[in-house]
Amino acid sequence: MGLAERNGGFVTRADLTHLRVPQGGTRRVIDSSRGIWNPRDMDATLSVVSSPSGPYPDREVEGGLFHYSYRAGSINGDNTKLRQALNLGVPIILLRKVRDGIFVPYAPVYVVEDLLERREFLLALDDDARLLGRGFDALPQRSYVERLVRQRLHQADFRGRVIAAYESQCAVCRIRHGQLLDAAHITADSDEQGLPYVSNGLSLCKIHHAAFDSDLLGITPQYEIQIAHMLLEEVDGPMLRHGLQEMHGTALTTPSRKKDQPDRDRLEVRYSQFLLRAS
Ligand SMILES: [Zn+2]
Repeated sequence: MGLAERNGGFVTRADLTHLRVPQGGTRRVIDSSRGIWNPRDMDATLSVVSSPSGPYPDREVEGGLFHYSYRAGSINGDNTKLRQALNLGVPIILLRKVRDGIFVPYAPVYVVEDLLERREFLLALDDDARLLGRGFDALPQRSYVERLVRQRLHQADFRGRVIAAYESQCAVCRIRHGQLLDAAHITADSDEQGLPYVSNGLSLCKIHHAAFDSDLLGITPQYEIQIAHMLLEEVDGPMLRHGLQEMHGTALTTPSRKKDQPDRDRLEVRYSQFLLRAS
C-alpha cells in the first residue's frame, strides 16, 4: 500500500510481479494471466483481480459487500483456496484493474460469504463491511456502509486512473511524488456518482489543487495556466513566486492518450467561473 501511495494510488503489473517484502527479496502478488493468485506455498488465495465493467461499480457493492464471481469452470479448482481464505479468516488483496497494467489495490480484504448458488464470493473491503455477512440483512447500517464502500471505490479508482494517466506528475508544476498528488475534478463531484472519466480529472499537487478549486489558478480550454491577478501583484516568498506566479502563462502537462486529455468544454465552463471570481 505504501508503494501505491508513492505512485499516487496505483501499482503497475511490474510492481506486483516483483514486490519487495520485509523479509527480503521479492514476491509475486498477481497471477501472470489469471484473475486469482494462489501461490503454491500458501494455504489460501493471496490476491484477486477485478476489472470494473462500467464506470460505476454499483452492482459490485450491493449490500455493502463486493461481489466477486467464481473463476469459471469447476466450483472447486482455483476457487478452493479463496474458500480457504474464508474458512481461515485470512485477508487477501483485491486489485482493481483501472487500465491496462495499472491496478488500484485494496487490503486487507476479507472473504465473508461463499454463495454457491450464485457462484460468487462476497468480500468485505473494510472492518465495518465485515459485519455484513449472512444474517445481517435487516441491519439498518447496511445502506450507510454500502454508500461508504461505493464512494471509497469511486474515489480510489478515479484517483488511480487519473494520476496514472499523468504518469504520477502534477499537470501544473510536474512534481513527481504520488503522496502529494490528488485527482481534481474539473466539473465538481457534488453528485455522489460523480463523473469518473479521466477527461473530467486533472492530476494536481495539493497546492495547485487547492488553488484550482478556489479559482486562484485557472486553466484555459487551450491548456494554458492562468494565475489570478490578485496573486500576481502580491510580493511574498518562494512558494508564491516559483509555485504560483511563475506558472502564469505556461502550458499544462497533459496525458499522452487523446481520450484522457482534459475535456475542453468542461474547462471552458470552469475557466469562465475563474474569470468572474478573479476579476
Ligand atoms: Zn503542482
